Amino acid sequence: MKHPKEERTYVMIKPDGVRKGLIGEIIKRFEQRDLKIVALEMFQPTHEELDNHYPKNEEWITRLGHKTLTTYEKYGYDAMTDFGTIDPSIIGPEIRKWLLDFMKSAPLVKMVVQGIHAVDVVRKIAGDTMPYKADMGTIRGDFSIDSPALANKEKRAVMNVIHCSETPEEAEHEIKHWFGANPTHNYKRFGVDE
Ligand code: ATP
Ligand code: MG
Repeated sequence: MKHPKEERTYVMIKPDGVRKGLIGEIIKRFEQRDLKIVALEMFQPTHEELDNHYPKNEEWITRLGHKTLTTYEKYGYDAMTDFGTIDPSIIGPEIRKWLLDFMKSAPLVKMVVQGIHAVDVVRKIAGDTMPYKADMGTIRGDFSIDSPALANKEKRAVMNVIHCSETPEEAEHEIKHWFGANPTHNYKRFGVDE
């Protein structure tokens, strides 16, 4: 069992976050919440790296399709018109493809963020996945307004500024995937670690 202060999460600033000039702002919000940046780098991911980052199992992909259909239903949009189908297992892969294209469209910034309940707190600071729903005071709520309704009309992924792991297990998996075995640095934050 890890010490509570040692929980880690994986964060990636997406192309829209980098191109909006939000790198500093995003890091600032983690640091001001007493979370510690323990690894950090800008890089251009390959198609293969991204392909292996997003889950490939049918369940995850179909879930993407389901989520989209739910949005379409809510707003009275017609999935048949936009996708030519209402089958989530066909819509899901389409969205995954848009996601990879989007994620390759500019350099990314990857980091490991450490601290108490890092996974949940970072997701809270990030705000709702869908920027138009995200509360003010969150990164997505303050700097974006995209929605699947617009994104899917434009045949692209939702641009939501950052990616952050959903669970501690997913975090460890993603840290290993993007940084290799030994990515993190050790130092004591004033007022946090001593
Ligand atoms: P992330 O994993 O990026 O932190 P999340 O876990 O909240 O966000 P997922 O459901 O895992 O969201 O979706 C991964 C990404 O796919 C989202 O961040 C978004 O960029 C994109 N996405 C999700 N749903 C849709 C959709 N209906 N239409 C277009 N893009 C979508
Ligand atoms: Mg996710």
